[in-house]
Amino acid sequence: MKIYGDYHTHTIYSHGKGDIRDNVLRAVEVGLKDIAITDHGLHHVVFGLRKRKIVEMRKKIADLKSEFPSINILLGVEADIDGLGGTIDVKEEERELFDVIVAGYHKAVWPNRFSDFFTYHYSSVYEKVFGAPTAKMRARSTDAYVKAIEKHPIDILSHINYGLGVEVKPVAEACAEFGTYLELNGKRINMTRDEFETVLSTKVQFVADSDAHFPNKVGDTSYVEKYLEGYNIEDRIANLYSTPDFRSRREK
Ligand SMILES: [Zn+2]
Ligand SMILES: [Zn+2]
Repeated sequence: MKIYGDYHTHTIYSHGKGDIRDNVLRAVEVGLKDIAITDHGLHHVVFGLRKRKIVEMRKKIADLKSEFPSINILLGVEADIDGLGGTIDVKEEERELFDVIVAGYHKAVWPNRFSDFFTYHYSSVYEKVFGAPTAKMRARSTDAYVKAIEKHPIDILSHINYGLGVEVKPVAEACAEFGTYLELNGKRINMTRDEFETVLSTKVQFVADSDAHFPNKVGDTSYVEKYLEGYNIEDRIANLYSTPDFRSRREK
């Protein structure tokens, strides 16, 4: 599977191993036309971006753009869905700092409100110990995801079910309704076959990304290709031949 653009890659600005330049060099090498640098959100406790770093990142990207005119380089972010009300850790006034917004759930995120720890983040802890969340927990997490998609111009929902189990159907339906792409993540797809087929029964569109944490993984979606063996859904993957129609850009 060859993709046109990779919209989810990490660098040393969060917990990736390469600098922006290394990711861009690899992207050029494998023939991508777009690459997004999407480090973790501004308020992530362990490896979040700091706002002052964004100026530095923009400068690096501007220099790389003149050096490599064949590729379009976007500065994005991988935000955290961090609370029961569907809050994310990129505030409304911070959105304009980014060209593309990826969002998902991550452990070690500081809860948006303290009470969210018990009503929302605890599900992830429970799931780790007991293998799956309770139905009540799953319903709450689903509600947080759906609200996040409604409220924020999330372009790509990353690695659904990773760390926090949700009901995939209402989440996929919300994505379809609001124009958020559901990610087919190059490192992990935490959906059973049944869940994936349920997702396919909705009108959701997909984006296949590497989620590279090492420069040599940029553009690598071989895991997705393998997962999709036997399915013919190329027409639903928005980043195979052109730049997807990102909702955050439409709203700008
Ligand atoms: Zn992630
Ligand atoms: Zn990521």
